[in-house]
Amino acid sequence: MHNWHRELWRLGLLIVGFGLLGWPLGHPAAGLALGLALGLGRQLWQLRALHRWLSEHPQDEPPAASGLWGELFDRLYKYQKGQRLTQRRLRDTLKRIQDSSEAMTDSVVMLDSHGDLEWWNSAAERMLGLKASHDRGQHITNLLRDPRFIGYFNARDYQEPLTLPSPLREDLILQFQITLYGDNERLLMARDISRLHRLEMMRRDFVANVSHELRTPLTVMTGYLETYADHADLLPPRFARGLGQMQQQATRMQTLVEDLLLLSRLENEQHREPAEAVDLGELMAAVRRDGEALSGGAHQLTVEAQATERLLGNAQELRSALSNLVFNAVRYAGEGAQITLRWRLTAEGACLEVEDDGEGIDPVHLPRLTERFYRVDKGRSTATGGTGLGLAIVKHVLLRHDARLEIDSHPGEGARFSCHFPAERLLPTPAEANAS
Ligand code: ADP
Repeated sequence: MHNWHRELWRLGLLIVGFGLLGWPLGHPAAGLALGLALGLGRQLWQLRALHRWLSEHPQDEPPAASGLWGELFDRLYKYQKGQRLTQRRLRDTLKRIQDSSEAMTDSVVMLDSHGDLEWWNSAAERMLGLKASHDRGQHITNLLRDPRFIGYFNARDYQEPLTLPSPLREDLILQFQITLYGDNERLLMARDISRLHRLEMMRRDFVANVSHELRTPLTVMTGYLETYADHADLLPPRFARGLGQMQQQATRMQTLVEDLLLLSRLENEQHREPAEAVDLGELMAAVRRDGEALSGGAHQLTVEAQATERLLGNAQELRSALSNLVFNAVRYAGEGAQITLRWRLTAEGACLEVEDDGEGIDPVHLPRLTERFYRVDKGRSTATGGTGLGLAIVKHVLLRHDARLEIDSHPGEGARFSCHFPAERLLPTPAEANAS
């Protein structure tokens, strides 16, 4: 403000001074005009200097000037310097981020809001085959064309990662994870989990092979034990008692081996049977009969077929899942319990349910109930002939049917196991199908 006033004064004095000079000469107006012209000329001169400085070498020191113009030049120079510093800092930060992403062994790909490629590190070139020369700006699904990836990318639900082989090499197993950030932009990360995948395969194969190898010796043993049991009267009473125990335990082992084999088969996605239309009414009636046989009249079993829609799936697997739920209810609900098998329509599709009014389960156990060998009460489970694999089997069968298991239970209030199937898995009833 100080300089501004001084500049005004200077201009004023110049004009008035020239006006006074012109007075004795008889041309005061010409004197004033000359003073004004000189004042204007000085401003234009400084403006030219400013223009030349900014357009020709803005990085250099500003031209020398005093007063208001000097202050203006100084301020502009400082502002420019500050801007350059911020820019350099931003560039350095960006470079550091890119360098650290570059050093990562995982693939990092930045996508814009349309899903077009913006930037990626060299790991992404190695694992996904992206090429710096011509892939920039391409849509990600033009480069990663596996339908499972396209489905995952478009579904925009990135809570769970996706596991797929690399588009370059079948033996390179990648785990994809997408994060949304900024203005709908996406960060795609891919991690090499081949080693983990191999170990998982080895574990599965090991369990399947051991179970398979145990089958024959167990069959031989139970066969002999049965023969001996038929002639138990020939044995001393001490041996006869042990024989009964051996038979019981051998049968338990057989069930365990069968369950382990079934789980291995369910886990092995490659051998998926083609889907068939399963009539849930028939299935529930059959499982109810098995449940009644196991219960021996100690429970009340009812079937409620509220929907007539058939389910697209594998009848054998569904029967195994339903049997596990019903047998569990018979084993754990307690004598006299009412057990209901229900098939009903829901907002998301349909639900196959097994409900009992028995002893129920403490909610703390619910999240872990479908883990292999997880039991609420180990002693009781063993005594009732459980293998600890029942609900793990149910979970895997449901996974193969795009369904999910919901468990609702409280101690003393019974338990409800609901299997929710999506609407795409439903088929109209045979009568409706014929009519249309
Ligand atoms: P198990 O072979 O021990 O039955 P599961 O995986 O089938 O193994 O079940 C796990 C545990 O869940 C069981 O040990 C039991 O404690 C509990 N459970 C399952 N169903 C019921 C039910 N209907 N009522 C009470 N507890 C149940």
